[in-house]
Amino acid sequence: MSINFSAEQPEEVLTAAAFQPEDGSEASLRPKRLEDYTGQTKAKENLAVFIEAAKLRNEPLDHVLLHGPPGLGKTTLAGVIANEMGVNMRITSGPAIEKPGDLVALLTNLQENDILFLDEIHRLNRSVEEILYPAMEDYAIDIILGKGPSANSIRLDLPHFTLIGATTRSGQLSAPLRDRFGVVLRLELYSTEDLRCIVERSAGILGVEIEPDGATEIASRSRGTPRIANRMLRRVRDFAQVRGEGVITKPIADEALSRLEVDKEGLDNVDRRMLRSIIELYNGGPVGLEALAATINEEAVTLEDVYEPFLLQQGFLTRTLRGRCVTQKAYEHLGIEYLGQQKLEI
Ligand code: ADP
Repeated sequence: MSINFSAEQPEEVLTAAAFQPEDGSEASLRPKRLEDYTGQTKAKENLAVFIEAAKLRNEPLDHVLLHGPPGLGKTTLAGVIANEMGVNMRITSGPAIEKPGDLVALLTNLQENDILFLDEIHRLNRSVEEILYPAMEDYAIDIILGKGPSANSIRLDLPHFTLIGATTRSGQLSAPLRDRFGVVLRLELYSTEDLRCIVERSAGILGVEIEPDGATEIASRSRGTPRIANRMLRRVRDFAQVRGEGVITKPIADEALSRLEVDKEGLDNVDRRMLRSIIELYNGGPVGLEALAATINEEAVTLEDVYEPFLLQQGFLTRTLRGRCVTQKAYEHLGIEYLGQQKLEI
C-alpha cells in the first residue's frame, strides 16, 4: 500500500499547500472525529446525516468524492469518516495503481464495509478506471480468462465497500466515474477564525504556548489552508523558543513570518512574482496560464491548483475567458500605481 501525496510537488516554500517532507509528523495533528474537524460546516453536516443513516441500516456509506485544493483536509476527512463508521481504511493513490491487477488485489482484500481512500483519483489510468465502474456499482469485477473467441468472463463478488476519492481537479474526472459517487463534497478555503481554532488545537498537541493574537496572526497568513497553518506554527514555534521565551505572541509570529517572506496578506514569493509579472509584462492581463507559468518558471498545474484559488478568493486576481487579470487590489498591495483599465477592449 503506498501513500503518494503529490507527484508534482512545487518547490519547497513555506506556503506550498502540497505535502512536504517536513509535514511528516502531520498525522498526530489530524483530528479523528467529526466534532474535532474544524470548519467545512456544510460538508460536515451532510456527512453526519449520511453516516448516521448508513450505520442505522448497517450498510456501507455511499461512495464519496472529496474535491478542493491541496492541504484542506481531504485525507483527514476520509480518516474521520472511517473512524465514525468504525471501519478500516486502506489508503492508495491514482498514480500508485499502475495495472488493473493492482486494483483487483486491493479490492479483493477489503473487508465488508471497509473504506478505500483513493487520493489523486483524476490520475488513474483508463484501464484501471474501468475496473472501478462495476466495483462501485455492483460490488463485483469481471475477470476475462483466456483470449480470442474462447475467452470467458467470470464475475467475482467483492465485499461491500466505500470508495472515497480525493482530487484537486474534479474537472478532469471522466463523467462515468464522477456519476458513480453518491456524495460529492467540495472543500472550501478556511476562514481565519476556523484556522485560528486549528492553530490553537495544534499548538496544544505540540505542547507550545500560544496567545490568541499570535494564533490569529498565523491563521490570517496561511492562505486559508490548514496544512500551511500547521507548518507555519512549527516555524514560528522555533522563533518563539529562541527569541521569545517559548510563547507565541503576535509580534513573534509577525517577525517570524515576515522573515520567512510571507507578507501580511499571506502572499509568498511565488504569489508576488505571479502578480508582478502580470502587471509588468502583460500590462495587468489578460494572460494565459501557460504563458504566465513559463514566464515565472513554475508548472501551470501548480499555479492553477495551489496559488490561484487563494489569489482569486482574496480578490487579487480574476479569471476571464481570455486569461488571468490582476485587480486594483493587487497593484495597491505591491505598491504599483494603478492607472485604470490600461488596454482598449477590441
Ligand atoms: P489534503 O488531503 O486535502 O491535502 P490533509 O487531510 O492531508 O489535506 O490535511 C493536511 C493537514 O491539515 C492535516 O495534517 C491536518 O492536521 C490539518 N487539517 C486539515 N483539515 C483540518 C480540519 N478541518 N481541522 C483540523 N485540522 C485539519
